[in-house]
Amino acid sequence: MNHFEILRQIKQCIKLRLPMEGKKLHAHVVKSGFDLHGPLFSNTLIDMYGKCGCLKDALQLFDEMPNRDLASWASIFTSHNHANLPKKTLFLYSDAVSKDNLRPDDFIYATLFNACAGCTALKIGEQLHAQFIVSISSDDDVVKSSLVDFYAKCGFPDRARKVFDSIVSKNVVCWTSLIYGYAKVGKKSESLDLLRDMPCKNSYTWKALISGFMQAGLCLDSFNLFKELRREGVDLDGPFVLSSLIVGSATLAMLELGKQVHRLVIGLGYESNSYVGNTLIDMYAKCSDVSAAEKIFGNMRKRDIVSWTSIIVGMAQHGRAVEALSLYDKMTLAGLKPNEVTFTGIIYACSHAGLVDKGRHLFNSMVKDYGLRPSLHHYTCLVDLYSRSGLIEEAEDVLNTMPFKPDEAAWAAILSSCCQGEQKEIGVRIADHVLQLGPEESSTCILMSNIYARAAMWERVSQVRRLMASMELKKKPGYSCVDLGKEIQVFYAGEATHPMMDEIFRLLEELDVEMRRRGYVPDTSLVLHDMGLQEKETQLFWHSERSAVAYGLLKSAPGTSIRILKNLRVCGDCHTVFKFICSIVSREIIVRDINRFHHFKDGECSCRDFW
Ligand code: ZN
Ligand code: ZN
Repeated sequence: MNHFEILRQIKQCIKLRLPMEGKKLHAHVVKSGFDLHGPLFSNTLIDMYGKCGCLKDALQLFDEMPNRDLASWASIFTSHNHANLPKKTLFLYSDAVSKDNLRPDDFIYATLFNACAGCTALKIGEQLHAQFIVSISSDDDVVKSSLVDFYAKCGFPDRARKVFDSIVSKNVVCWTSLIYGYAKVGKKSESLDLLRDMPCKNSYTWKALISGFMQAGLCLDSFNLFKELRREGVDLDGPFVLSSLIVGSATLAMLELGKQVHRLVIGLGYESNSYVGNTLIDMYAKCSDVSAAEKIFGNMRKRDIVSWTSIIVGMAQHGRAVEALSLYDKMTLAGLKPNEVTFTGIIYACSHAGLVDKGRHLFNSMVKDYGLRPSLHHYTCLVDLYSRSGLIEEAEDVLNTMPFKPDEAAWAAILSSCCQGEQKEIGVRIADHVLQLGPEESSTCILMSNIYARAAMWERVSQVRRLMASMELKKKPGYSCVDLGKEIQVFYAGEATHPMMDEIFRLLEELDVEMRRRGYVPDTSLVLHDMGLQEKETQLFWHSERSAVAYGLLKSAPGTSIRILKNLRVCGDCHTVFKFICSIVSREIIVRDINRFHHFKDGECSCRDFW
């Protein structure tokens, strides 16, 4: 074989992704004594290794090259982008600039903007853009196309648009990037207008649009668009779009939407796809239908670590610790190696079931048996495990010896158990410490205020209250969504303009009378505004989750569960109210707040008032 024939064959390997064949050709090149050190062969081989997913081989060859040209750099950058290591690309580049005085050409600019897009490195991308404008390649359409993608992915579609307008021959890639950019930030009409004007759409365009809407939280829009496209017979090949719809339903806890997509999955024959299966497990768990999640898991033909972890975490989050633990045992027996997420779920489960020894054992096993390094989050779970069981000193010990600086969540884990047990002094000491650090979450402040109140330290109580009042001003507005299947209704705190407000008000009032008859006393200690008792009670009355529950009761079929999604932590008083309501109306109320799930049933909550 001569030079050209070998080069042609290596390029064929790139096209067909055949790394083994490529390696043979590499060996052949070495044996035949061709000049491997010249850039031509090496660059093509680096390209081959990078695109075939053999980054190590690509790097080795690159490191052995005595003379690298710009194409060598472009190939090694592309290899890293391809291996989904965009940050490494940018690091290599800045290293090459300082050491080798590398000056990018058009190919290198394009790979760099791709890298910036991959890790949304806005600052670096902007600097490179400024350099590019004054460079000799400033007219290059390929580079501009990667710039469009970069700005779109960073969430600046208008800037992407500016570059886009300057491109002479626009291809499907840059159109799609721009449409995705607008969809991702929720600019629906801009993205749909572009789509109408686009001369050459393909299935990637549709996928980009649907997943962009999904990310912007426009779930129903993307679902409708999906249905429309299917009616029109557009080929949305593969389960990719379906799973992004499932992930979207999970994020917004929209069970009915999730179920509809699930029906489609079955209809299109993707039920046995394990990627789709895993997203379904996660979706059902997040939409608090754990038994459906279990069913999917049970029917799966091939379960990987993600499937097991999803079901374990799902069980743990819904307070079903025993099942979570037995699943964990089955998983390890089946020879699967748990990962970091599995351990978060399983330690969480132990913590909520009061299984201290088991939890401690699992935490140690994570390091000893599986060689994983616990993160701050794992340590916080451990702190939570100890303090929930009243082992405050052990918990504090973990905070003081762990290799991370404890954050507010870690301190809050201890504080919340100091509110309950007899550990007044430790509680005050920790509260003092957190006060010095400056708490940022109002939930932490509530814990601190309770601890100081129990210790009769009124001066401190009012200090914390003042802090909370200033947070209240900055707080994002609270809202709750109620999922009724065909419709999702959003209620904002204090909202009085809803068309059904009169009915909602009447129902809440009726319930209020019955609750008070059963012994309910509103807990106004958490209302901060300076106002009279009557006013404070009214304030609580209009918390968004209450309107949402009332609306759910009015509109849903008798006997069904009411599902609420709340963007903040559910307040103590609403928590009490829901315990009353669920038994008055004999309905299950499921609230997913920012921290966890609450299943209210028969006058109790699954969190056992500890959240
Ligand atoms: Zn409330
Ligand atoms: Zn609860």
